Amino acid sequence: MENNKSFVWPQGILLALIALSGSLSLGLIVPMSLKSFYVDTTNAVDLKDIEIKGGAQERLNQLKLAMLTSWQQQARVKGLSYSIPARFQGVIVNRVKLAPNQKVIALTFDDGPWPEYTAKILNILRENNIQSTFFVVGQMLNNHPELGKQIVAEGHVIGNHTWHHWYHFFNQQAAAFEIDRTSDLIYELTGVRTNLFRPPGGMLHNGLAAYARGKKYTVVMWSADSVDYRSPSASVLTSRVLKQGSPGGIVLMHDGGGNRSHTVAALPQIISKFKQQGYRFVTIPELFELQEKDEKMIANTKK
Ligand SMILES: [Zn+2]
Repeated sequence: MENNKSFVWPQGILLALIALSGSLSLGLIVPMSLKSFYVDTTNAVDLKDIEIKGGAQERLNQLKLAMLTSWQQQARVKGLSYSIPARFQGVIVNRVKLAPNQKVIALTFDDGPWPEYTAKILNILRENNIQSTFFVVGQMLNNHPELGKQIVAEGHVIGNHTWHHWYHFFNQQAAAFEIDRTSDLIYELTGVRTNLFRPPGGMLHNGLAAYARGKKYTVVMWSADSVDYRSPSASVLTSRVLKQGSPGGIVLMHDGGGNRSHTVAALPQIISKFKQQGYRFVTIPELFELQEKDEKMIANTKK
């Protein structure tokens, strides 16, 4: 698999993690309304509530965390960011231009990490050998750090979706708090210095996107909206995403922010139908690199 991220995995750790994470089960059910998420998540379920079944599971979890920590220490020393072509830095992107026969698409998940759903989505992606991009909410990551670590450890890309997921106007100082604090926590937990930002609600004019652009983040929007936050049936969700899918497209879904059982139910169908159409799945930085390569090829043929 091509890997455009600017770091290389210690292979043994990666393989062991894949094997181990298959045996992890985060059987949490969190009855929490969407409203409560956007207003206050201080009552979110603590991960100490996760049931550990017997000593074996506990030892596996400890081993997994030890491996993650050792990798994250290495990553931190290197201060890793995603490799983003210059033209995509500090700009707003909702898709990339690829040749119509370049059937490549990027799945993105917002508002996590969230108990139950993030882990289920990670399982589905792993089973399908797909890497995607997660835009995390800082305070959720603070509540569920091990899910954030798992996202990165399993090869997915992590982006910034602010600390609070608020929609109001932010002055420079408030925007800095929302974005810097989230990126700092991502770095602290995973060793990744993310340079990808997605504004809550896709709002581009409330001070957040402007701050992010000033800091050279790519503001990542989308070209296909699943509208999964309205909890449509899995089949409606699947056909809606498929209808909007196109080469170079970016699909918006949610692993957090409320009950995401419909997203979890639809995801395997979405993946298999795209695959039937000849699509493959990439992360956001990989998508940007593909456009660079495509254009270089066109330039070369013209010479
Ligand atoms: Zn969001």
